[in-house]
Amino acid sequence: MGVTCSQTILKQIANSRMRLFVTGGAGYIGSHAVRRFHEAGHEPWVFDNLSTGHRAAVAGFPLMVGDLGDERAVTSALATAQFDAVIHFAGAALVAESIQHPLNYFQQNTSHGITLLNAMRQQGIDRLVMSSTCTVYGGPATDRVEEDYPLAPINPYARSKLALEWCVADCAAAYGLGAIVLRYFNAAGAHQRGDLGEDHSPETHLIPNALRVALGQQPCIPICGTDYPTPDGTCVRDYVHVEDLAEAHLLALERLVPGRSIACNLGSGSPNSVQEVIAQCREVTGHPIPSLVSPLRPGDAASLFADIRRARELLDWTPRHSSLENIVASAWAWHSRNPAGYGEPQPHPVPAPKFPSLRRSA
Ligand code: UDP
Repeated sequence: MGVTCSQTILKQIANSRMRLFVTGGAGYIGSHAVRRFHEAGHEPWVFDNLSTGHRAAVAGFPLMVGDLGDERAVTSALATAQFDAVIHFAGAALVAESIQHPLNYFQQNTSHGITLLNAMRQQGIDRLVMSSTCTVYGGPATDRVEEDYPLAPINPYARSKLALEWCVADCAAAYGLGAIVLRYFNAAGAHQRGDLGEDHSPETHLIPNALRVALGQQPCIPICGTDYPTPDGTCVRDYVHVEDLAEAHLLALERLVPGRSIACNLGSGSPNSVQEVIAQCREVTGHPIPSLVSPLRPGDAASLFADIRRARELLDWTPRHSSLENIVASAWAWHSRNPAGYGEPQPHPVPAPKFPSLRRSA
């Protein structure tokens, strides 16, 4: 009886057009999700301070430029229209930066999230899909990580996200919020149309930086650590296509249950080492992409890859675009067509990448 009733409600929600408040919607993953929400018949409105997001990535969608740290701005933006749900992408996500500036991370990821939750409560919005990260597990993991794996975040970035996850879970229990927390593994790739993709400043991620080498924008790709306890000594990650992530947000939105917060891994389920990723980049681009053995990055886990059974069962999600080949090919299509990304002015000067003169590995 209860099950039938809640299935009916879920069906009704799924079939109805929702007006969505998307924080960080002009960013890399957010912009792909905004497009997907629109294609599915929903009405996404973007709230973004454009510190790392791009206006061009959400052209044609309502964009409210504002900062989640500004409580009045958030409250008034949420009151602009009757929103049915919030999808919360906004946040800072660089491990090394979080170690240098932990307070910034707790402010942007935890404190701003609490501001958002408060504003949602004031407006009576009780549906949330939140971005989180596999780094809450810490690692190293020798096998696939499921959601019940012990939470042992090893850097401030991960701790700042986990703190908000806990807050969301408590709000579900206390106020009836319905939430799904999506723990991304390594988001990568670009939209199949070739007009949305990754454009960070500075860029720190492996795939875009390897492709920068192929484009002649940097001389070689540093391999950050070759003595990890992994099969080839380099870090192992789980790369998942950004369009698959976007799809998961859509499915999550249609499966929120009042009073329940549940975390869900989003990965491809397949582990790949840094060396394997670089080899794939060489194959796709036809460029030798020289690499350089470099010091490990503080805060990096040796190995993290996902058990995605919960996402398959709960969300009915399948990562269709997430073969490593498709990820790299789509990223290459974006970067080679848009070597300057969205071509918008950078908020901060891009520091020149440093290449320590260590031994060359390939
Ligand atoms: N990495 C690397 N060289 C780079 C960028 C990244 O060797 O120029 C490594 C990094 O140490 C990690 C993996 O590639 O083991 C994935 O890093 P990325 O920054 O793409 O994602 P993260 O796992 O840190 O979220």
